[in-house]
Amino acid sequence: MMAPDSQAPLLRISALTKRFGGFIALDNVSVDIPPGQRFGLIGPNGSGKTTLINCISGAFRTEPGTVTFRDEDITRLAPHIRTRRGIARSFQIPRPFRSMTVAENLMVGLDFAADTSVIVSEAQRRDTMMSILTRMGLASKANVSATKLSQVELRKMELARAMATHPKLLISDEVMAGLSSSEVDEVLDLLMSLADQDITIIMIEHIMQAVMRFSERVMCLEAGKIIAIGTPDQVMANQRVQEAYLGT
Ligand code: ADP
Ligand code: MG
Repeated sequence: MMAPDSQAPLLRISALTKRFGGFIALDNVSVDIPPGQRFGLIGPNGSGKTTLINCISGAFRTEPGTVTFRDEDITRLAPHIRTRRGIARSFQIPRPFRSMTVAENLMVGLDFAADTSVIVSEAQRRDTMMSILTRMGLASKANVSATKLSQVELRKMELARAMATHPKLLISDEVMAGLSSSEVDEVLDLLMSLADQDITIIMIEHIMQAVMRFSERVMCLEAGKIIAIGTPDQVMANQRVQEAYLGT
């Protein structure tokens, strides 16, 4: 294997295609994401955003196409192995374990990412969990049942669960949907602070203001194809992007 050089992308998606039967959900998508970039992914409903995330996280196999992460071809790795390599995603529909406390929900994430060859004490696990909850502004909710959380707290918990796996790449799939504008700002600030702590973030969001404020680079999909990629301003000014959004 070649020595990783500092110019290498964190994530490289090459000629990725995903079919569901005869339907092409992703059509020959290629993109490099450098380490540390705040990357926005937009596109109308059904354009393939979540499918792309599923291909990155390993929920879907790609055929053909390759996914390279930190200089390693991960195309054939199982989802939990990719998680251990440093890829974490939030789910578009938060799926907390409702009967559990916030702390217990996080422990599930910790266990999922755990390297089973390393023995970690209960106290160490608890420390790790509390430090993540503190980072996510949820420390005071540790022992509260997930059913008692507000919408914005649930979204934060969803991100905290992803953070429990110590990701290098965090993928946030519409975690802001349905939040008020001040709550959107809260989650945006949180993601910004994670990005400042050396985590590369792919943000999928319908709330255009939020993506544009957050992202250094934006990619727009339509019907499984990249129709624009560039700075937020460039993408917003793009004729095809404007048409794609007017059409929905
Ligand atoms: P987006 O996240 O951009 O709204 P998706 O990636 O969820 O879009 O879906 C892209 C297209 O692929 C849609 O037409 C959707 O119906 C289809 N699709 C997604 N997942 C599946 C699946 N598991 N089986 C069949 N079709 C799917
Ligand atoms: Mg989606």
